[in-house]
Amino acid sequence: MEGEMSETKNLPQWDLTPIYPGFDSEEYGSAKRRAADLAAQAIEFYGASQRVQPGEDTEAWLLKALALNDELGSLFGTLSAYAYAQYSTATRDQKALNELNAIEELSLPAKKAGILFRNALALRKDAALALAQTNSKIAPYAFSIREDLYFQSHQMSPEMEDLAEDLSRSGADAWSRLQETVSSNAGAVWDESTGERKTVIELRNLAFSPDRQVREKAYNLELGIWKSVEIPMAASLNGVKGTVNSLNSRRGYGSALEKSIAQARISEKTLAALVSAMEASLPMWRRYLAAKAKVLGLGRGVDQGAGKLAWFDLFAPVEVAGVSLPTFTWAETQAFVREKFSSFDPAMGAFAERAFRESWIDAKPREGKVGGAYCTDFPDAGAARVLCNFDGSFSSVSTVAHELGHAWHHENIKDKPYALTQYPMTLAETASIFAETIISEAALSKASPSEKLQLIELHLQDGCQVIVDILSRFYFEKAVFEARKTGELSPEQLCSLMLDAQGKTYGEGLDPEKRHPYMWAVKGHYYIPSLAYYNFPYAFGQLFGLGLYERYREEGAGFAKTYRELLAATGSASAVDITRAAGFDIEKREFWDSALSIFGRQVDEFERLVEANVRK
Ligand SMILES: [Zn+2]
Repeated sequence: MEGEMSETKNLPQWDLTPIYPGFDSEEYGSAKRRAADLAAQAIEFYGASQRVQPGEDTEAWLLKALALNDELGSLFGTLSAYAYAQYSTATRDQKALNELNAIEELSLPAKKAGILFRNALALRKDAALALAQTNSKIAPYAFSIREDLYFQSHQMSPEMEDLAEDLSRSGADAWSRLQETVSSNAGAVWDESTGERKTVIELRNLAFSPDRQVREKAYNLELGIWKSVEIPMAASLNGVKGTVNSLNSRRGYGSALEKSIAQARISEKTLAALVSAMEASLPMWRRYLAAKAKVLGLGRGVDQGAGKLAWFDLFAPVEVAGVSLPTFTWAETQAFVREKFSSFDPAMGAFAERAFRESWIDAKPREGKVGGAYCTDFPDAGAARVLCNFDGSFSSVSTVAHELGHAWHHENIKDKPYALTQYPMTLAETASIFAETIISEAALSKASPSEKLQLIELHLQDGCQVIVDILSRFYFEKAVFEARKTGELSPEQLCSLMLDAQGKTYGEGLDPEKRHPYMWAVKGHYYIPSLAYYNFPYAFGQLFGLGLYERYREEGAGFAKTYRELLAATGSASAVDITRAAGFDIEKREFWDSALSIFGRQVDEFERLVEANVRK
């Protein structure tokens, strides 16, 4: 197809040489040597700090420790981001893979130093907390010190932690790898006549097909595959969740949720407000799902189904006869992003311009390059890079904006000491969602009614995942943790908990016979031992980004400065305090309701556009 060719040729590749000239360069080699030296120094220093010497100067000790940690974090952050960036555009390059492993190996002593640091800090707890209030050099680290002390208070003895770490490799981590291996190798025969097979990942991608029969066939085959591997999958999930429950109780956590709330740097009240706003929005999402069923023509004509969406329709493209969304060349993408960012904040527009000009973006799809998109930063270089696989569609323009939003976040925080540049997952998507929203609002404002129908549908499709599906995952995980305390769950029990969770969230928006009982086998997130409830932070990030955009609509141009300050502070305090300083109260329902109202307006408009389109 000629059109597609012209959009994807001449796409840029990124330039990583300003970070390090190459794996064989003197700069990279000496950074690695420096990293090994520093880690060894840290182990020695913290090892010798496991007792407080009489007359010790705690201020001097703490200043040295904080500086050492910052230097280590920044150097390892840069090295590992560089090795991964090289690898991600050349996954079959043995050299890149070797370097990735070498950096991982190199960072083991640094991790050990981290545990020793926390223990040494706990021995100096009172003095350190007092200094965090009174000493101007230490005060900026107050939150980070309190957080280290909190997690230290939930560590077992060093011997027990050591044993737990050792056993996890053949325990919870092994269960997690089993889920990964089984799901990445599972497949089924797609075409009986040719014997063509498809993997479960390929089958799941067919959910985006415009052909309903294709989607339904893929869904049925997929469910059959999960059924055939449900025993090892359930064993894996029981293994991971059982380990997490045991370790949490040994480490003195009341529940897995308590730890996740701390990792997310929020409060119980924040989570309760977020969840109740999500629950209150469910009827609105069910209206969206009903309108989508209508525009897809379900229950009419050839299709005499329930007139409701099935699971396999959730990602179905909504096509309006004869109208497709405009495509973008790379030059058009640059101009559009630069212009729309500038209209919000000229500094953000200039930043995007610089990223384009200085080859920060790798947009060209090619063999050996990973799929998807990401943004990474190199703390020592004070720079970021973006990887994406540009195809000229509006979604891929939106992806460029999303990733540049992450880079803008880094740009605003990069001059702080390393420990204060580390923000939790709840705040990690703020800047990206905000940037994406600038672009999608701009596109909507000049779209024709049929383009609008498709653009809004894309936005609501994403939103429905992040709110409705995420809520079902949250309910499910909570139920599993609870039930796992008293015994192992059978595959049937897991399926029934999943169907319950989907029933509570999608409700009458989905055909009850056509839900997805095996989503617990699909999502790798449930199988990460160190990170439970890897779901609500997505909803938080999405709604917080949109809530900020609402504020911008109300305040206009003056908001750009508040926004920059907020980004700069994301690593320095709890999410509750950071957002309070910017004038938001995330412990109250109102904030989340206001963010959800953006979706509410779009559902109203979607319903109107669907009515007009169906009547035509
Ligand atoms: Zn992102």
